Amino acid sequence: MKTTAYHSSNPSDPDVHHDHSNCPSGQQIPAHNRLSGTGGYHRCGHCKNMG
Ligand SMILES: [Zn+2]
Repeated sequence: MKTTAYHSSNPSDPDVHHDHSNCPSGQQIPAHNRLSGTGGYHRCGHCKNMG
C-alpha cells in the first residue's frame, strides 16, 4: 500500500527511501529506526517496481 515517504536512520542501511508500507526492504527497518520523509535519498527499487 502506498504511504508517506519513510527511511531508516541507521547509517548501515541502504541510502534509499520507501513509499510503500509493504515494501520488503522497508519492512526490515525497525520502528525505532524509521523516520518519515525521504531523507534526501533516492527511491527504493522495490517501491519503484510496485508503482
Ligand atoms: Zn522500498
